[in-house]
Amino acid sequence: MTNHTMNYYYLVFLIFLIPYISCSKKNTDFVKESQVKKEAVAGNTISGCKKWENYVPIVRQPNLSPTRMIKVNFHIMQRADGTGNFDEKLGREYVKNLIFQCNNTLNGGNAKMYLPANNDIPVLPQRYQYVLTPNPEVKGDDGIYFHRSDEHYFMVSTGGNKNNYDRKTLEKYLVGKDEVLNVFLMEHHKDSLKSPRYSKNATGIAMGTWIKLLGLYTDYNKAVPGTNPPEYPLREWYQRGLLNHEIGHVLGLGHSWVRNDRCDDTPSHPNCWNFGAPPCDKVSNNFMDYNTYRDAWTPCQLGIIHKNFSRKESNQRKLLVKNWCDLDETKNVRISKAQVWGGAKDLTGHLIIENNAELTIECRVSLPKGGKVIIKPKGRLILGQSAVLENDCGEKWEGIVVEEKSGVRGEIVMVGKPELKQMVYPLDRK
Ligand SMILES: [Zn+2]
Repeated sequence: MTNHTMNYYYLVFLIFLIPYISCSKKNTDFVKESQVKKEAVAGNTISGCKKWENYVPIVRQPNLSPTRMIKVNFHIMQRADGTGNFDEKLGREYVKNLIFQCNNTLNGGNAKMYLPANNDIPVLPQRYQYVLTPNPEVKGDDGIYFHRSDEHYFMVSTGGNKNNYDRKTLEKYLVGKDEVLNVFLMEHHKDSLKSPRYSKNATGIAMGTWIKLLGLYTDYNKAVPGTNPPEYPLREWYQRGLLNHEIGHVLGLGHSWVRNDRCDDTPSHPNCWNFGAPPCDKVSNNFMDYNTYRDAWTPCQLGIIHKNFSRKESNQRKLLVKNWCDLDETKNVRISKAQVWGGAKDLTGHLIIENNAELTIECRVSLPKGGKVIIKPKGRLILGQSAVLENDCGEKWEGIVVEEKSGVRGEIVMVGKPELKQMVYPLDRK
């Protein structure tokens, strides 16, 4: 044999060997119906999808409750002659600063609850942010609009000009119906300002997916220099509490000083604005109370907010940037012990169940296009009867891979009839 033919035989040998090497160690086929263990539903089980407890952000698994991005735009309502509110330059600057200060507090700025005294309520990451959202159909749009109208610039809570719950302004100027949270910066009526007893404090109202904020321009102008802490000189820093509070209503929360706000971790109290004589020797700092701090979110409040973000048909979900549709393998979720998912999830990476780990899914889970569920040889996946595996983006996710090594194979159990849809490799394929 010449050297040449020897190389040829060697090459043929290699070509036959390669598939043998790659197939013999692991069988990485997508799972089929026949490989699934089926179990009947035992007794009455209640789905955990509706429980806020199942949506509280998990500190150590950020990929399980990724940051939700809420689309917002702003309308600055001026009088017909263009006065009475921020002008275009200052208005844009103010709005951007306000969003920045809110996001800063929402990103690592959650404070410990002042009330009840000596509480051990955990301080969790809020995991939501606001993003200024232009109208994509309008060239040069930046999501900040200026309107001139003597009929619409003001908000009044009492008396003949009362219009605080009026929807006319919204209907006239709304941009991105149901998809973007519209914030209107309105001002005090010029007649109100004439009355010496009239309070010029900034306040707000939230209805549906829009908000009216009253008096931020007046607040900006009357602010006494040095009243904010030196590290936060801007009024936007102070007023972040007002916007976070009103958005809290849009996200499904009530006032936290009342007893029936659905949260046991927000005690009722006299709702004092700041520290003073009793009963104001005790002051809350919760963002859904009226107080000067408004920088504490409780686990229950975050659970309710994130439940609403995860509910498929909710108004809150429609306001979100759909940032769970593109596969991002840096966001893979690895399960390394026994875990139960009671609440719905929108994953952006693969879901990997490691050896000696077990995951029970009891609610909806969306996987991105190209996303897989991978069960390692000693891993186990249990799909409960309320489980839904899907792609929430009108695309398809890949399917479930059950790995095998040395005769040991990952396990998949279905209890009752979980729903598996939008798969490239469905279980019942030929
Ligand atoms: Zn309120």
